[in-house]
Amino acid sequence: MATYDDNNIFARILRGEIPCQRLYEDEFALAFPDIKPQAPCHVLVIPKGKYVSATDFGAMATPEEITGFYRAVSLVAEKVGVAESGYRLIANAGPDSRQEVPHFHVHILGGRLLGAMLVAP
Ligand code: AMP
Repeated sequence: MATYDDNNIFARILRGEIPCQRLYEDEFALAFPDIKPQAPCHVLVIPKGKYVSATDFGAMATPEEITGFYRAVSLVAEKVGVAESGYRLIANAGPDSRQEVPHFHVHILGGRLLGAMLVAP
């Protein structure tokens, strides 16, 4: 498993060193809009703990952290208004997924009819 980089962008957002619009926050998670939205609704949800990827989170997080995080994802989907219309969750993990930021995060995408799940490379 890759070592956690304390200087990744989302670690800096969690420490308040980089601003973001805090859409939702609790002891387990923080949600904020993606800086380059790919859909009318494009929100990122990140855990408060130091986990590199979905792989790391699923393997190493405590049951409380996992439950708290996914409850936050559901709450955020409700809060931003896509729970009924529908949305897509994406969690890129590792090089082939083109994960850019090495702090586990889930993208919530919605607000319109979404296209195909994968586009050509
Ligand atoms: P991923 O490729 O899954 O690692 O996605 C990382 C996402 O973080 C991209 O969609 C970026 O647009 C987004 N991003 C990077 N920096 C920021 C930032 N400062 N605030 C909000 N979103 C960001």
